[in-house]
Amino acid sequence: MKILIVGTGAREHALARSLSQDPAVTELHAAPGNPGIGEVATLHEVDQLDGSAVAALATGLGVDLVVVGPEAPLVAGVADAVRAAGIAVFGPSAAAARLEGSKAFAKDVMAAAGVPTAEPRVVTEPAQIDAALDAFGAPYVVKDDGLAAGKGVVVTEDRAVAAAHAAECLAKPGGRVVVEDYLDGPEVSLFVLSDGTRVVPLVPAQDFKRAGDGDTGPNTGGMGAYSPLPWAPAGLVEEVVNHVAQPTVDEMARRGTPFVGVLYCGLALTSKGTRVVEFNARFGDPETQVVLARLATPPAAVLSAAATGSLDTLPALQWRPEAAVTVVVASEGYPAAPRTGDPITGLAEADALPGVHVLHAGTRAQDGAVLSAGGRVLSVVGVGDDLAAARSAAYAGVERIGLAGSHHRSDIAARV
Ligand code: AMP
Repeated sequence: MKILIVGTGAREHALARSLSQDPAVTELHAAPGNPGIGEVATLHEVDQLDGSAVAALATGLGVDLVVVGPEAPLVAGVADAVRAAGIAVFGPSAAAARLEGSKAFAKDVMAAAGVPTAEPRVVTEPAQIDAALDAFGAPYVVKDDGLAAGKGVVVTEDRAVAAAHAAECLAKPGGRVVVEDYLDGPEVSLFVLSDGTRVVPLVPAQDFKRAGDGDTGPNTGGMGAYSPLPWAPAGLVEEVVNHVAQPTVDEMARRGTPFVGVLYCGLALTSKGTRVVEFNARFGDPETQVVLARLATPPAAVLSAAATGSLDTLPALQWRPEAAVTVVVASEGYPAAPRTGDPITGLAEADALPGVHVLHAGTRAQDGAVLSAGGRVLSVVGVGDDLAAARSAAYAGVERIGLAGSHHRSDIAARV
């Protein structure tokens, strides 16, 4: 199987790494990829948001499958362009990716499908902000309706901060804001594969969205993750499949916009039961790094079965007994104003440690060196017999990395 991966992050590097170890994969390409992905795939300088360019590349390469990693190309219709060229694609159409592209749309689908989530109120005018905040009270949850790279949500006790965020989102062209109930309880991420009709769950993971230790500081794209979750209630996966994923996939099919790819169910295990915090229309980053590290089934046939409407033919997925932990190394100033262009050292040393692999996110190669090129720079993954061993491995890897001004959380998977 020849496969083209679209994207530039550590999630795509994790996909590339797993696919490169699958004997069914004969050729692996990435557009545009990053220097880490370049170690296992051929890189192509193609704009990942340009559907016709990606489709032309896929056609020219004669690939059997295109895997679209990030949300922006999906929302921009890259999967549609590839599908229109007659090539199988793992990733939803732009119409189905609205589950992530618009929080108001996702709430509408959840209401129609009877999926439990926080009660929302959609705000379109500055004059409506106060009433919406009053309706829910503190802590306030204010969300940008559109894509914001994991940074559009403010959860705060401070009413002025909540109101200011709402006003800022509304000031964007076509800006809309969702204000909703605060959900208490721990969060779980569950990825569910769908071929448009059927669903197959992967294993739960937990990510760490805040920038600082102890869940302090601003929300980020994600600073670390681990799997398995020894504390998760028995039956959680089944519950989410039956009450969240399958009804959502059914509702999307009923609307004529079947969802193909991975439905990322962001869940809160609240005192009132399991609630959807958010849907994403793609693999989560950094949870993918730990989930794929645990997947024993070769992934090419799995992604292909989802892309071609044949999940019913897929044998049950096999999982390694090991645990996985990933720690994100971020640039100085991330998430507000990441500094880039600094040399990164210790990559090979970290990667050579037992149970450690280093995934690239915001990096670029220059004159034989690897430089930081984004906010989240690396995802260091540790795999071990249990979470403690996996965690030690991941942090041993992080210790080897040199990047001026970088920061990482020191408490990923610490409490568990
Ligand atoms: P989202 O982009 O919707 O996933 O939100 C990002 C993060 O904000 C979530 O992972 C939660 O930590 C937090 N969050 C979002 N919605 C709520 C809510 N209704 N109640 C409490 N926290 C929330």
